[in-house]
This record gives sequence, C-alpha cells and structure tokens, in this order.
Amino acid sequence: MSEKTGIDVLIVGGGAAGMMAALQAARAGARVTLLERNEKLGKKLYITGKGRCNVTNVADADEFLRQTPRNPRFLHAALHAFDHAALTDLLASLGTRTKVERGGRVFPVSDKASDVTRALERGLREAGAQVRLGARVASIARNGDGFAVTMQGGETLFSRRVVIATGGLSYPSTGSTGDGYGFARALGHAVTPLRGSLVGLEIDAPWPKLLQGLSLKNVRVRAQAGKKRIYDEIGEMLFTHFGVSGPLIIELSGHLPDDVREACVTLDMKPALTPEQVDLRLQREFAQNAKKRLSAALPALMPARMGPVFASLCGVPEDALCGRLTRAQRAALCAGLKALPLPVARLRPIEEAVVTRGGVDVREVAPGTMESRLTPGLFFAGELLDVDAHTGGFNLQIAFSTGALAGRSAAACALEETGRI
Ligand SMILES: Cc1cc2nc3c(=O)[nH]c(=O)nc-3n(C[C@H](O)[C@H](O)[C@H](O)COP(=O)(O)OP(=O)(O)OC[C@H]3O[C@@H](n4cnc5c(N)ncnc54)[C@H](O)[C@@H]3O)c2cc1C
Repeated sequence: MSEKTGIDVLIVGGGAAGMMAALQAARAGARVTLLERNEKLGKKLYITGKGRCNVTNVADADEFLRQTPRNPRFLHAALHAFDHAALTDLLASLGTRTKVERGGRVFPVSDKASDVTRALERGLREAGAQVRLGARVASIARNGDGFAVTMQGGETLFSRRVVIATGGLSYPSTGSTGDGYGFARALGHAVTPLRGSLVGLEIDAPWPKLLQGLSLKNVRVRAQAGKKRIYDEIGEMLFTHFGVSGPLIIELSGHLPDDVREACVTLDMKPALTPEQVDLRLQREFAQNAKKRLSAALPALMPARMGPVFASLCGVPEDALCGRLTRAQRAALCAGLKALPLPVARLRPIEEAVVTRGGVDVREVAPGTMESRLTPGLFFAGELLDVDAHTGGFNLQIAFSTGALAGRSAAACALEETGRI
C-alpha cells in the first residue's frame, strides 16, 4: 500500500457531477485529484440526449423544483450557487456554445455531447486538476481526521476531504454500477430504496407484445393515482415486447407512485376530439362503410396493425358489419379510442432507466454545502443522492449544480484549514 499526500480534495467518479466538482474545487485554488474507473471521463455524458446531450433547461428555479418530484427543496442552495446560466456561461468560456430548444431544453450548438465533455476536460486541465483514469475505487474509510481511499490494485490515497460522485445504477456499462452507495453505507449513511425512473413500463396484458415495434404519434397518455391526476401529456409512444416505452412513457414513469400498480394509466388515440366528436366520427365512418366489416373501417381510425387488437380489446368482433354495430358496441369502441387502459405491472429494470430514483438520504447531507452531516470532510454530488427529476435537462443540471457546490465547499474547507484564505 503506497501513500500519496498533497491532495486537498479527492473526487471519486468522473461523470458530470465529479468533473464539475473537480473543476470548481481546482479553480478555487485547491489541489484536486479526480479518480475515474473508465479509460475516459464522462462516459455516460456521451449517450445523453441521444448523443446530443440535453445539458440543462432554462426553466426558472420554481419551475425547476416543480420538475423534481423527489426532495426538490434539498436543491435550493445548489441551484442558487450554480444554475443553468452559470453552466452555459462556463461551457461557452471553454469553447462549447449552447442553444435553447423546445421546452427550454439546452443542447450544444454542435449537437455533439462530446463537446460538453471536451469543454469540461479543458476546464480541468486549465485549473490544474489531476485526473487519474482507470482508477476504480474499492473502498473509502475514515483515517484520522481524513479518509483513506483505496483503489482496486491496493494503492491508497489520503485526503482530508472526499467527494463521492459515482452516479447511480442505470446504464452500468457506462461505469455507474452503484459503488458509491456501498461507500456511503460503510461511512454510516442511509441509502433510500433504489429503483429506476424514466424507464419503460411492463404491462399486465399480453396484447402490447402483439404490437411490438409500433409507434403512435400525437397520442395522449393520462395517469391517475386515486383521485389525483398525475400525468396528462400528448406525444409519442412505442409498443415493445414488454409493454410500452417511447418519450411519453419514459416521462410518465417519473411521475408514477412508488407502487406503480396504484396508477391508472390510459391511452387516448384521438386527443384532439371530445368523446362526442369521436362518436360522431364513428357514426359517419360506419354509415359510409355500412356493408363492410369493422376490420375494413378501423384502418381509417388507427394504424392498420392495431385494428384487430383494438377490436378484440373493445369486445367487438372484427368481422361484424359496420352497418349492424349496436349503440353499445359503438360506445365500447369510442371508449377504447379515448381511454384504452394500459395496466402497468412494473417498471423495467433499473439498468435500463435514464436515472436512479432513491439514493443517499438527503436528510444526512447539508444542502448548503453537500457535506455529510455525519462525517465532516465527506461530500456527495450527483445522481448518487436521493434526488431525481423529469426529462428536459434537469438531471444533468442537478449533477452539475450539486457537483459545483460540493467542489467549492470542499475547496473552501481545505483552504481555510491550511490558512490559504
Ligand atoms: C441514456 C441516457 C440518456 C440521458 N440523457 C440525459 C439528458 O439528455 N439530459 C439530462 O439531464 N440527463 C440525462 N440523463 C441522466 C444523466 O446522464 C445523469 O443523471 C447524470 O449523468 C448523472 O451524473 P453523475 O455524475 O452523478 O453520474 P454519472 O454520469 O453516472 O458518473 C459517475 C461516474 O463515476 C464513475 N465511477 C463509478 N464508480 C466508481 C468507482 N468505484 N471508482 C471510480 N469511478 C467510479 C463512473 O465510471 C462514472 O463515470 C441520461 C441518462 C441516460 C442513461
């Protein structure tokens, strides 16, 4: 075991949060070492926003917190310390300009996620942070009034201040395998139950599988939990071998209660029409096709592949003549078009999720500094914390804001202790 000294702040994890923590701590004048297990920094950043990286959102603080269903108040200070404007200014100063798109979503002008990582790498270099790649941390233990951080292979680094920014459990191939939860627990922290959010939904019915690969555009998905409407949006969804996915469903998953079966989810295939207008449309369609079978009329109302499945779900025989359909049958078809039930069984596994819900319990972390309330000198940042948000660039901004605050706070402690400020 070798000992390395001369580190003011040691940061574990070189994703969005860790890179920002290292950059801010180094800019503040601290001697910083950043440890990343992969052979490159920000591996997950490369796949964000379908490779374009929806890096933040221009929503104001109130709206931001509304888009953060779990522990929004914990983020107040972090967002105040480092908001979307601070982020885009920083990126621009490092050569990556950004643009605002629909819904306030911000992307690099180049549409290349790699430009965000490149800018942060440049910032780290210019600020003089030491970056060690291929350095997977195996354990973090208290050592006197600091920490011993041991890497796989046995090398140990010592530092009075450690920032854990190892991410969550989603997309483990990017390096986020949840190591930080173990470190946090070993240092006495509670970790709330972990599960995926922003992920596909498994449906408690065999029929979506029959429509696998079919995408529906401009449909409305609604969800209700008890009497409360928890989601109501129009967009695009996709049927899959397990149930449903696509942008609308991914977004919906972030709104679902912990027990997803409590939610009643329905699909409206005619969002622009009222039920009365849909009924009139059906009457017209069936009058025009009175001598044809229902199967011949349905393709005018929905993708052809969906017709047989839809008729059977509504309990109306596909081979019934349109002119002979009863009022009750028409009502069933109308109800199916406006509110087809999507009985949610469970979320897809966390590995497929965009973010992890749950994490280091924020009641044990000081929101003004990101420092542990239990172990002085220990800081947390990013997805590892029990905070997650809806889609739109909010999750990356959470990582950047908490990372910036943790890095600055850790650096301030170091400089104060060593009399450098
Ligand atoms: C497909 C996909 C698309 C997404 N798109 C967007 C988007 O467009 N906008 C948005 O806001 N959010 C998006 N997100 C979410 C966003 O990427 C995450 O919330 C964010 O990356 C979290 O940052 P982080 O730094 O906390 O964790 P991570 O980015 O996961 O970084 C953690 C880092 O720690 C390293 N690490 C882990 N364990 C160790 C260890 N033991 N030793 C050393 N290093 C370790 C990992 O290798 C990794 O590099 C997306 C996520 C996915 C999966």
